[in-house]
Amino acid sequence: MQPVRGTKDLIGDAFRRHHHVVETARHVTGLYGLEEWATPIFEATGVFARTLGDTSDVVTKEMYSFEDRGGDSVTLRPEGTAGICRALVSNGLTQGGLPRKVFYAGPMFRYERPQKGRYRQFHQIGAEILGAAEPLADAEVIACGWQILQHLGIDDGVVLEINTLGDAPSRDAYRAALVAYFTAHRDKLSADSQTRLEKNPMRILDSKDAGDKALVADAPTIFEHLTPEAATFFEKVLGHLDRFGVPYRKNPRIVRGLDYYSHTAFEFVTDRLGAQGTVMAGGRYDGLVQEMGGPATPSVGWAAGIERLSELLAETPEATRPVAVIPVSEAEEGPALALLQMLRASGVPAEMAYKGNLKKRMERANRIGAQAAVILGESEVAENVVLVRNLQDGTQERVGIPGLLSALAAAGVVDAMLEQVVEGLELVAEDGEEEN
Ligand code: ATP
Ligand code: MG
Repeated sequence: MQPVRGTKDLIGDAFRRHHHVVETARHVTGLYGLEEWATPIFEATGVFARTLGDTSDVVTKEMYSFEDRGGDSVTLRPEGTAGICRALVSNGLTQGGLPRKVFYAGPMFRYERPQKGRYRQFHQIGAEILGAAEPLADAEVIACGWQILQHLGIDDGVVLEINTLGDAPSRDAYRAALVAYFTAHRDKLSADSQTRLEKNPMRILDSKDAGDKALVADAPTIFEHLTPEAATFFEKVLGHLDRFGVPYRKNPRIVRGLDYYSHTAFEFVTDRLGAQGTVMAGGRYDGLVQEMGGPATPSVGWAAGIERLSELLAETPEATRPVAVIPVSEAEEGPALALLQMLRASGVPAEMAYKGNLKKRMERANRIGAQAAVILGESEVAENVVLVRNLQDGTQERVGIPGLLSALAAAGVVDAMLEQVVEGLELVAEDGEEEN
């Protein structure tokens, strides 16, 4: 049996890298006051089809849509924002308490051609600020994304490219200018972009076709078509980014792949990942909540691909290294179990092999990367002491149970903060129950 094409199992190093990205994002978004939401991984197809845009790649070719047994059309979510906005409306959260700041993490599904950095089930972290029309919200959600990249240690070599898609009048003027320009070069456009010219000319700017890209290089930019209001909005976002200390590069070619954006659009890009260089992307979406049947709720956010962020991590976070509890003979197994639970209750990861003599259990301790072995023989049990063998340097000492955590802390095996917790624990219960 093989996994479905474009899907991957997360095991060992791959899981720990993934988990580290999510935990870091959870921590940093918490610093910005975001609360975490989890919405279903499938929604009524309309949630995506109505909002992401008829000409977007996602809607035209990438959705996993199917009829369920009741005959309803449902879709595995290709992105997170539409579901978050749907949830805001469904849960009646559009009335009071805005803005709401939301973090999410989870799997997304797109029927794409699998390649490095591009999968059919992939994972995103995302941040949304719902119900805030102020440019400060744009800058803050971007600063939060930047701080996540910093905490992950991958900000070096990642650049924020930012653009504005203006307001509706700006876009109308710009669309007319683009239509005039591309119509003059119509025969040189790819077939896809000829269709885009009819339906959504701005989407041509996002084309991956080499011929289109050459034309796009000389196309007019939106900067010449912004209304004074849209220009001011953009300037304010950039000013706040300066104050937040987030470096950026203005790039008039950033339009984003989904239809719901206005004003701010941005991507964090790197050249360290080959062709799939966008790690985090987003923008302002002032009309989306209304599309879901809610009131006007101007919002801004981003999503980032966890696989691409994981790939950039310089190091794999270490697996947990437990303490191995080792009874010398069967007679010590009972006290060893008591010790095992004492350690766990004190917050120390601890394991005991289910079977095997001293030698076999020592071998397993090394195989699972234990930092220390706590060995219990007959005389140790009698005296309420244990042998602590440091598996890094091979040194061994005999310590009383009350001093065990101190000894483990001194050996660097456990956090010194745990020390007091086991004070006073008795290896052999006073009433001698362990005899059974
Ligand atoms: P691309 O231009 O790479 O197709 P996109 O515009 O479709 O990206 P978004 O919808 O903005 O991407 O998704 C945000 C982020 O999610 C991307 O920047 C990327 O890091 C990640 N991502 C998108 N699609 C995939 C995929 N199929 N596999 C892995 N990561 C993905
Ligand atoms: Mg895509």
